Amino acid sequence: MAEPVYLHLALPTPLRRRFDYLPPEGTDPDQVRHWPAGIRIRVPFGKQELIGILLGVSDHTHLKATQLRPALERLDETPLWPDELLQLCLWAADYYQCPVGEALHVALPALLRQGAPAERVTEPVWQLTSEGKGLPEGALSRAPRQAMLLAELQRRNQLSRADLALLDIPRSAVKALEDKGLVETAPPTPEAPTPALLSEQPLTLNSEQAAAVSRIKLKGFQVSLLDGATGSGKTEVYLQAIARTLAQGQQALVLVPEIGLTPQTLARFQRRFAQPVVALHSGMNDRERLDSWLQARSGRARIVIGTRSAIFTPLAEPGIIIVDEEHDGSFKQQDGFRYSARDLAVMRAHRLDIPLVLGSATPALETLHNAHQGRYQHLHLRQRAGGARPPTVELQDLRGVTLHEGFSRDSLAAIRAQIEMGNQVLVFLNRRGYAPTLECHSCGWLAECLHCDARLTVHQHPRHLHCHHCSHQRAVPRRCPSCHSAQLEPLGQGTERSEEALREAFPDVPVIRVDRDSTRRKNALRDLVAEVNKGEPCILVGTQMLAKGHHFADVTLVVIVDADAGLFSTDFRAPERMGQLLLQVAGRAGRAEKPGRVILQSHHTDHPLVQTLMHAGYHAFAETLLQERQRAQLPPFHHLALLRAESSRPENAVQFLRLALAQAQRLHAPDGIISYLGPLPAMLEKRGDRFRYQLHISSVARAPLQKLLSQLAAHLEADAFSKRVRWAFDVDPQDMS
Ligand code: ADP
Ligand code: ZN
Ligand code: ZN
Repeated sequence: MAEPVYLHLALPTPLRRRFDYLPPEGTDPDQVRHWPAGIRIRVPFGKQELIGILLGVSDHTHLKATQLRPALERLDETPLWPDELLQLCLWAADYYQCPVGEALHVALPALLRQGAPAERVTEPVWQLTSEGKGLPEGALSRAPRQAMLLAELQRRNQLSRADLALLDIPRSAVKALEDKGLVETAPPTPEAPTPALLSEQPLTLNSEQAAAVSRIKLKGFQVSLLDGATGSGKTEVYLQAIARTLAQGQQALVLVPEIGLTPQTLARFQRRFAQPVVALHSGMNDRERLDSWLQARSGRARIVIGTRSAIFTPLAEPGIIIVDEEHDGSFKQQDGFRYSARDLAVMRAHRLDIPLVLGSATPALETLHNAHQGRYQHLHLRQRAGGARPPTVELQDLRGVTLHEGFSRDSLAAIRAQIEMGNQVLVFLNRRGYAPTLECHSCGWLAECLHCDARLTVHQHPRHLHCHHCSHQRAVPRRCPSCHSAQLEPLGQGTERSEEALREAFPDVPVIRVDRDSTRRKNALRDLVAEVNKGEPCILVGTQMLAKGHHFADVTLVVIVDADAGLFSTDFRAPERMGQLLLQVAGRAGRAEKPGRVILQSHHTDHPLVQTLMHAGYHAFAETLLQERQRAQLPPFHHLALLRAESSRPENAVQFLRLALAQAQRLHAPDGIISYLGPLPAMLEKRGDRFRYQLHISSVARAPLQKLLSQLAAHLEADAFSKRVRWAFDVDPQDMS
């Protein structure tokens, strides 16, 4: 009889171990021995069935024969990932202290998690009818979406559903052309690879751009920081670096922040390249995402553009990785598998031995530090591309100044002047809703959330009180719950209130609000941006949604209503984020013929950080912050991990962290290499009725920290007390709240 053989699986459960099974009944053990890692296996788990990933096969198991159950079914012939990527996922699960089954789960498209075959479903494509082919170029100009569809079909003959999604052409436009008899569906013709690389002439690079492209390696591991202000032509550098990669027969992976993956960005890549480009983002449905993923894996797609999780896209012939706006917080996942896609990009490029480009106008302090240390090549783009001039920035001291709904008289006058000249104005305020809270004028009562340590935001459309931390909502009270006075007043400014004030002050121009509330409907943001890009005078008022991804060429003035919040936060990253956000907003303004102006209203104009940012620029600002971080022994000089615990009973969370601290000190006594701080309450101690605490573990060196965290995780999991709290490690935390 053949020796028994065991399957070792990763299953999507919170347990930090692998699971052993017998092979499915009726399979030949000698064949099972050759099953590759990375295939999916369906198994019984308690009373359920789960889909696991095979990690290996061996003759050994730590389980008794009576504990072993046979697996049900092998789902894949070939591994889902190339070995490189499976190994990266395993490494990341280990590094971020995430159970491996959960990590692999996150790395897969939803349909594969659910057991769908890893095969493309060929769907019909759209093409022009003979009548459609007879139309002249530029026809249907009164229906822009239909005209765009027509032009694309004239250029490329066929469009798939994925192409339409990428071009952001609504199905209604397709239907309209079908009804007119101009477009029909057809089975896809087998794809002959297009030999052409480009479908549009690249721009002539300025000398800095050309130097940057030539210093990005064609082969071999290298990290370049492409450091250039908004509008300095970074994207053009990416496009030309990618063209070289495609020319040598390799694929490119481009990561962008969630909010940066706009139809404009995709269209720009589509326009430039004759080769297939696919997207991966949350606006796509599961089928579309799987299709992009499979096209990347098979090598059909030559360029993959996606948000955070796209770092886990398999590539047949990887040649370059690009991370745009690398400082952006959305690259770090904030729950479950708390990975940083930017940091994993460095690891993946290293393992693949290919170049990586990190681009930003405001590089993260970590990235600048790596560049200073010589680990990354530092490429600068100091001019604005195409001759545009950088905006001028003015500080406006609000102390002692009478404010009209948050605006100084000077700011309002400046807005008026630009509107009268036919220009557009952008007003930035990073608080949505009408006002940050409601106050009783008689007794000082403030509207607070019952479930969080936070105030309730006043919203007017529709009118209600809303907690932005737990989503709790209540009606606005008529009388103060404390003293019954009727004098309840909204306190402070939110975007809705600024919008209202600007409408009153400027009744003749459209005021367009852009925040999470005004853009909830699908395509709402696209429509608002299209409205602004018509170029008519208008006032845009909005949150950081305005700071990313969109360039507004006709905006000549940016007013930043209040920039002070970041200066006094207890989060050590708050000033860095404030500086990045301000410069990103400021960068929205101006172009060649119309230079931009930025007014920064502040009660702390003489704060050294504000002074440095405004007068010496981002790099000096970042340098100051880096020196502070070094003195305070914070990242990037020290490595930091949090152990987070939360419970409906605060004493449980604290007690758990005390036990963890004692255990950690037994494993690694504080010694000048590793140090401990806490248990501390989180910045928002109570959220959604749960009390949240943290233990900070910091280390001069990475390796001892990693070793400690792994050992500590194993101990905590085995400890019965850990069942009473929700706990997780957050390695390299970005958000300390
Ligand atoms: P960034 O990505 O740094 O914000 P972009 O690459 O989007 O900058 O460039 C900003 C604008 O300048 C775009 O409209 C782009 O077409 C234009 N541009 C970029 N490089 C050049 C160049 N070499 N010559 C002319 N225009 C350029
Ligand atoms: Zn009161
Ligand atoms: Zn709440």
